Amino acid sequence: MTLPRIGARKVRESWQERFAGTPDVLKTEQRQQTVVSVLDINIGGDSFVTMAGPCSVETESQLMTTAHCVRRSGARVLRGGAFKPRSSPYSFQGLGLDGLKLLAAARRETGLAIVTEVMSEGDVPLVAEYADILQIGSRSMENYSLLEAAARSGRPLLLKRGMVATLADFLHSAQVILENGNPHVILCERGIRTFETAMRNTFDAAGIALLKYVSHLPVIADPSHAAGHRELVPALARIAAAAGADGLLVEVHPTPDKAWSDGEQSLDFAEFEELMDSLDPWLALRSAAFREPAFARLVEAAG
Ligand code: PEP
Ligand code: MN
Repeated sequence: MTLPRIGARKVRESWQERFAGTPDVLKTEQRQQTVVSVLDINIGGDSFVTMAGPCSVETESQLMTTAHCVRRSGARVLRGGAFKPRSSPYSFQGLGLDGLKLLAAARRETGLAIVTEVMSEGDVPLVAEYADILQIGSRSMENYSLLEAAARSGRPLLLKRGMVATLADFLHSAQVILENGNPHVILCERGIRTFETAMRNTFDAAGIALLKYVSHLPVIADPSHAAGHRELVPALARIAAAAGADGLLVEVHPTPDKAWSDGEQSLDFAEFEELMDSLDPWLALRSAAFREPAFARLVEAAG
């Protein structure tokens, strides 16, 4: 069956119209893929980049053993929160500067790049001094003064999708960063709030495919915060790879049941290694996602 040509073209172009408010994040013929480079790591290039580590930096031995483990299993970036956005004021708030120093020591010891969250505008210079990538958390996605300050630091930014943000809202925040002169933006899908409560959030795999379809920015997936339960993390990670994600952000802890935050969704070392070893067939699907004829046509329509 052949589609009426005008109608088919309209459907393809509607994505461009839908996201017309954020022109700089959209693919064009000239700009099909941004690659964000950190140390010798390219995010958004051909290789799939895994960022892994504890939810929070707790102690030197916790961080160092985790850093060595995730590096051995193939991660290139170490995650770990020093400033923690917690829903309760009575939960662990992070080690602050001491946590940043431990992250820098882990980088020296392992060569892994560091991603860590910055929660306030005033902390940007300090966090930017220690981290290779600044994480903007889900709760901060629409904090425009933070986005502007973080953008001006010149560091690559990992922008997490707000838990109640539409894809258009998400791209709007990315546009704000680009407008403030920082092109090094990595989008991170981490699950959204829906009526489903069995999992911590609902993982938006379609959102990953659509972001890869319309935007030139790298997209990574956080299956840990999306699932909220460690047994679901590997499946979501593999789905993300098949949907075309450029990498993962995964919580890993030496003894998840004793973690100071997010233990229930953290993988232990053996589980993380098993996850990394299972990715290959799914990464083959990831490459296939980019060979879709529709993908080339979108670029044509935009150009
Ligand atoms: C985190 O990565 O530890 C975190 C707090 O994530 P989010 O902002 O997505 O909740
Ligand atoms: Mn966490």
